[in-house]
Amino acid sequence: CPTVNESRRILVDACKRPSLYVPQINSLKMACARSNASSENKDLVTTFAPNLNPNTMATNRTFTMIKPDATGAGHTGKIIDRIISNGFTIKAMKWTQLSLADAQAFYAVHSERPFYGELTEYMSSGPIVAAILEKDNAVADFRELIGATNPAEAKPGTIRADFAESIAANAVHGSDSDDNAAMEGSFYFSQRELA
Ligand code: UDP
Ligand code: MG
Repeated sequence: CPTVNESRRILVDACKRPSLYVPQINSLKMACARSNASSENKDLVTTFAPNLNPNTMATNRTFTMIKPDATGAGHTGKIIDRIISNGFTIKAMKWTQLSLADAQAFYAVHSERPFYGELTEYMSSGPIVAAILEKDNAVADFRELIGATNPAEAKPGTIRADFAESIAANAVHGSDSDDNAAMEGSFYFSQRELA
């Protein structure tokens, strides 16, 4: 069975070649069902595949979450205002909470990193706001707007500099590539939820 990262690549690749989407997803599901694939890997396929939309891998979109520290501290409105006033258009948005299993699937790509346990517990500890955003150069511009992962290193005026509590509880998520933006957006939203 493919590794988590290989599964991720197959899912993204399938979206870019719509005629191959159904066969590629089916063979990926079969490979994972047949083997002793890790639960992260199985979750990745069953969680992301149903909402991924062939032909809709937009390059002007990114995905964000306002994290539990920020929703809990009452920063949600201020952060959304920051996002809109910096030129991002909201394409989809929801207030929700991740189960631990959801957080583990969402962050499967980080499963080997030392902070994976802490990260997934924290991300499932309270409400989040998930959103798909649109703007030219969305991924890079949004990373600029949120600032460095560690708020102590984030530039003044960035969202993390102003609202984050720590390197773990750092107020917001921002996708790091167009492919990951499409994958992450599809975790929460189907095509009919975009407007
Ligand atoms: N994180 C953490 N400790 C670290 C690095 C990251 O708890 O040493 C958490 C943090 O919440 C971060 C998330 O894991 O936002 C994902 O890490 P990544 O390196 O992708 O940072 P990001 O892309 O969010 O800036
Ligand atoms: Mg990241």
